[in-house]
Amino acid sequence: MTTHQAWLDDVRPNPYADQLASGFRRLRFVRPLEREYRLYMQDDAFDLKRIALGVGLLVWLAFAALDFFLIATGERWWMLTIRLGVLALLLVCALLLALRRHTHLLVPLSLTCILAPGLGAAAVVAVAHTVDPSYPYEGLLLICMAAYFLVGLRLSEALASSLVVLLGYVGFELLSGLPIPRLINNVLFLLFGNLMGLVGCYLLEYKSREHFLISRLMRVLAERDSLTSLHNRRSFNRQLERLWRQAQREQLSLALLLCDIDHFKAYNDCYGHQAGDGVLRRVGAVLSDAARRPLDMAVRLGGEEFAVLLYGISQEQALQHAEELRAALAALNIRHERSETAAMVTMSIGVASMSPGDGGEFSLLYEHADRALYEAKAFGRNQVVA
Ligand code: GH3
Ligand code: MG
Ligand code: MG
Repeated sequence: MTTHQAWLDDVRPNPYADQLASGFRRLRFVRPLEREYRLYMQDDAFDLKRIALGVGLLVWLAFAALDFFLIATGERWWMLTIRLGVLALLLVCALLLALRRHTHLLVPLSLTCILAPGLGAAAVVAVAHTVDPSYPYEGLLLICMAAYFLVGLRLSEALASSLVVLLGYVGFELLSGLPIPRLINNVLFLLFGNLMGLVGCYLLEYKSREHFLISRLMRVLAERDSLTSLHNRRSFNRQLERLWRQAQREQLSLALLLCDIDHFKAYNDCYGHQAGDGVLRRVGAVLSDAARRPLDMAVRLGGEEFAVLLYGISQEQALQHAEELRAALAALNIRHERSETAAMVTMSIGVASMSPGDGGEFSLLYEHADRALYEAKAFGRNQVVA
């Protein structure tokens, strides 16, 4: 992690940066991040799994054909029966994956796609060895490799399923009566192959986790303001467009509160820029408390200008929210002796609300709120105007 350390310190505290800094050698994040990572893997893995399963089915069929050349006795029918049973199971899995509906089944399905052909192949090899002890068993390693590299399992899942396949193989061979020295030789070969898969899979999952953390961190840095951790203007613009479309679909209204701290330049001049930053952070916390519902958003538009976007509320409710916000900041009672408005830091708020039924474009919402803010300033500050 040393390569990231220098710049990570600049962006902390942040859960992704914290995790990158503290490391994840055991391939495990702190609990909420671990959950997020697994969901991300689920979303990410569907297409990969379908390709993997297609390849797996083809290889399985090729091996079934090969059996017929290698084994001429009646045992070939047992082998064919096992292969067809596994094939049927794989086809059911393929169908469920193609439907893409049962995301929570993704891991169980992937495990089935390894365990069924793995145990099936172990049984086929054992049956073949009752006739011909030189029948190739190395194909089992291909299935272990699929567990490590092809189906997108995590290392622990890949390792567990490969071990089950190996144990199954040993069990079937003991039943079939393969000479023990030969069995030991085969198992050692499979174990060393697995060791390589294990190391490769570890490195792959480590990089996948690192990529996840860095890409999430980049997204936060691109969408958030570093001083207050509120959304920034870019994120606001995107959310405004998105919510406007949603409001059109659901026939609901959208409210915008534009907030501007009063006499903030004078505050900086009097108490210093650092103290000013502290005030911006506290205002950010007040606004973020006001935008707690999932679709609402608190934004730092720039400088000492903020916005709160509220979804699905009426003009009266929006005014009430704005009034509560204004009062909440005043109640913090941050001394501001240079203010011409009050003895403490205050803000002016312009409110606008529109529903898609009103006609017009969503850019009008911003214009209306901006005009209302201008009036709030002109009428004497520390007030709400709609
Ligand atoms: P008004 O009541 O009309 O809004 O007056 P104002 O002084 O608040 O507005 P003006 O736009 O003149 O000044 C905004 C000030 O905000 C100027 C700038 O020093 C300060 N400011 C902008 N960004 C930051 C910041 O990130 N940190 C600090 N401490 N101050 C900032
Ligand atoms: Mg101001
Ligand atoms: Mg301003």
